[in-house]
Amino acid sequence: MTRITPLLERNEQFARDYTAPALGLPAAQLIVVSCLDHRVDPAIVLGLRLGDAPVIRNAGGRVTPAVIEDIAFLAFLAGQLFGDQLAADALFEVAVIHHTQCGTGFLADPDFRRQAAEATGIPEATLEASAVADPHLTVKTDVERLLASPLLSPKVSVSGHVYDIATGHVTTTVVARYQ
Ligand SMILES: [Zn+2]
Repeated sequence: MTRITPLLERNEQFARDYTAPALGLPAAQLIVVSCLDHRVDPAIVLGLRLGDAPVIRNAGGRVTPAVIEDIAFLAFLAGQLFGDQLAADALFEVAVIHHTQCGTGFLADPDFRRQAAEATGIPEATLEASAVADPHLTVKTDVERLLASPLLSPKVSVSGHVYDIATGHVTTTVVARYQ
């Protein structure tokens, strides 16, 4: 018995009625970027079903170079595999979602950040870049960062949203647009 044992039992239940989705475009034509916080699981918050949307998660839901690379690869892959099924001018929308009460908010405090850097070996600048103190501000920054990247396909639009942990509501801060 380990911590995952009860979850493996849930998986047994899941697999009993399972039908494998076919390889295809994400049904929602969406990629979600969100925080790894266990209170903001996009599958639950947005009601995603299997096959609906790839989800990229990291601390804060920040648009890092690694996230930009993943999005560039997904756009390439979709074009290669399903280019004939796609509209000529649109691939999918990337929805960047930041949230209130984000644990990365503590990193806005220089003392906390220095301690975190010393304890983990992560550079202070990296920690500072992941901080979400005001999700309405950081989500705008990250939408702009993604739209400014030369790696972003012109067929991919980007939108920004804030999830409020207190109410369960997602509100749109930046409507979807292309480069
Ligand atoms: Zn968070």
